[in-house]
Amino acid sequence: MKRHDILGTPVDALTYEDAVELAGESIRQKKPLWILAVNPEKIMKALDDARLKAVLSAADVFIPDGVGILWAGKILGKRFQQRVTGVDLFLALTEEAARQNWRVYLLGAARGVAEEVARNLEQRFPGLVIAGVRDGYFTANEESAVAETIREARPDLLFVGMGSPRQEHFIRTYQDKMGVPLCMGVGGSFDVLSGKKKRAPRWLQQLGLEWCYRLVTEPARILRMGALPRFMLLVLRRKFGLLKLKGDKK
Ligand code: UDP
Repeated sequence: MKRHDILGTPVDALTYEDAVELAGESIRQKKPLWILAVNPEKIMKALDDARLKAVLSAADVFIPDGVGILWAGKILGKRFQQRVTGVDLFLALTEEAARQNWRVYLLGAARGVAEEVARNLEQRFPGLVIAGVRDGYFTANEESAVAETIREARPDLLFVGMGSPRQEHFIRTYQDKMGVPLCMGVGGSFDVLSGKKKRAPRWLQQLGLEWCYRLVTEPARILRMGALPRFMLLVLRRKFGLLKLKGDKK
């Protein structure tokens, strides 16, 4: 597996199969593994915030989510086998969990949403063991109690859908204490899989225009999407040697 660097953030060139295999190893060996979905927005936040950058760098596997990452790879001459989206890897991992009897915990989204996702997943992947669910709205004071409840449920996989960077901070702080082998942040995936939010039609996904669909259906995202043109500009500046980053060889 090749690890690339996109504007200072690591991104792995891997397939869904590779990621599921790494997850399996971590669960069999009870060795913590944290999968982080990288998109242009996270890369831009990490460039602006050194502390966040340190948190994100602590992940073990960095999946190339977002068409912007694959585009950047093309410009900068870094090859990715395929795009690996957070929501599709989440589904691939739960499917494998049903096959292997791995226990799954869902943490995040508004009250009732994770329950709905659990029901959908159980129908879709018969035999799936849901070790527990809980919404993602709790205070900083409640965090360690939430982590303790998760530890007691003994999941093999924990999916955290609390948005970025909250989910990353939670995983970074509590993964070892919870003793969960595989942790992955899934952003707004629970809303999509519960049917609360619609996912873009397949043809738009295939054209790499899922972001466009999200913009049209959730216009409030326009501010957050400002990160994308900034990201593209920096990638081009990097390509032409106009952008120096910390860690560059002198
Ligand atoms: N969320 C949560 N706790 C919070 C804030 C947000 O569980 O304190 C959930 C929210 O309900 C939504 C998800 O986190 O399901 C964030 O979705 P978004 O699409 O913003 O995620 P991102 O784009 O960061 O991946």
